[in-house]
Amino acid sequence: MSEFNLIAKYFTRHTQQADLGVGDDAALISVAQGQQLAISTDMLVAGTHFFHDAAAYHIGWKSLAVNVSDMAAMGAQPKWATLAIALPEVNEPWLAEFSKGFFACADAFDVDLIGGDTTKGPLTLSIQIMGEIPTGKAILRSGAKAGDDIWLSGMLGSAALGLAHLQNKTVLTEPALSRCLAALNTPRPRVALGLALRGVANSCIDISDGLTADLSHVLKASNLGAKLALESIHCDDYLRTHLNDANIQQCILAGGDDYELLFTAAKSQRDYLRQLSRQLQLPLSLIGETTPQLDLIITHRQKILNITKKGFDHFG
Ligand code: ADP
Ligand code: MG
Repeated sequence: MSEFNLIAKYFTRHTQQADLGVGDDAALISVAQGQQLAISTDMLVAGTHFFHDAAAYHIGWKSLAVNVSDMAAMGAQPKWATLAIALPEVNEPWLAEFSKGFFACADAFDVDLIGGDTTKGPLTLSIQIMGEIPTGKAILRSGAKAGDDIWLSGMLGSAALGLAHLQNKTVLTEPALSRCLAALNTPRPRVALGLALRGVANSCIDISDGLTADLSHVLKASNLGAKLALESIHCDDYLRTHLNDANIQQCILAGGDDYELLFTAAKSQRDYLRQLSRQLQLPLSLIGETTPQLDLIITHRQKILNITKKGFDHFG
């Protein structure tokens, strides 16, 4: 199969929000007046970001989902994406499944694939996503204020636990197994939440590298510290009932791949955020507050945890 036919068969679809999509030397889009273009790129490499034998559908879904999550974290509406893909060979069943997963995610979040590049090489995916945000309304990492509440959407730790299972570091049983593998393979970026946080949250980040690491980015950018209570962080019941404290801490604080939103907001936003949580049917947990002192202090049942960034590798 020629490169041209491959692109036509697996990566060309009618676009909803582009002036010109796949097929010419460049795509054309129009950004609405009063809107800024939000742009982000994430690359996934086989063996580093996913297992070589991972299901192609999941690779397709997740490669776009992690990019959509970056739009959510800015409060942007994702709209367009390009896909640069290196393939070791033309494997049509693999491409069909990859494309199905990719477009399932694109449909779920109203993203048009408008172009890309296709080449031979070790399996690698580089996606650029673009979205719109009213000028000046983006939610930055640097906007947190001292005394802000720190909020977290959804649950943490499930994806890390699913990964630990695949790495034979722990053995999960149903129904936790399905829940944790779904969290790992088909994360649902929090776009609706990100949009609702415009003008409400002072800062926001999506959790891709783990709560401690990602919160640290916000604190550094905002020149603040924070206090967090570990027990206020929502996680799968399975974590609390089946793992020891060290492993729970590892999954929740350092696990990563959660794609939940961590954001800070003034205390005056509490009522709005509790109502928003009901409206979106998404748990929003108040997990701590920012402080003018620069340290990050995490407590567990009133005891201060001794954390180092790499201090959580207790599995195995
Ligand atoms: P060029 O040689 O001009 O770079 P290509 O042959 O690489 O053109 O690509 C032809 C068209 O197909 C372009 O519009 C490009 O954006 C698109 N395209 C190539 N690969 C992909 C892909 N993996 N996904 C989506 N569009 C792609
Ligand atoms: Mg090209």
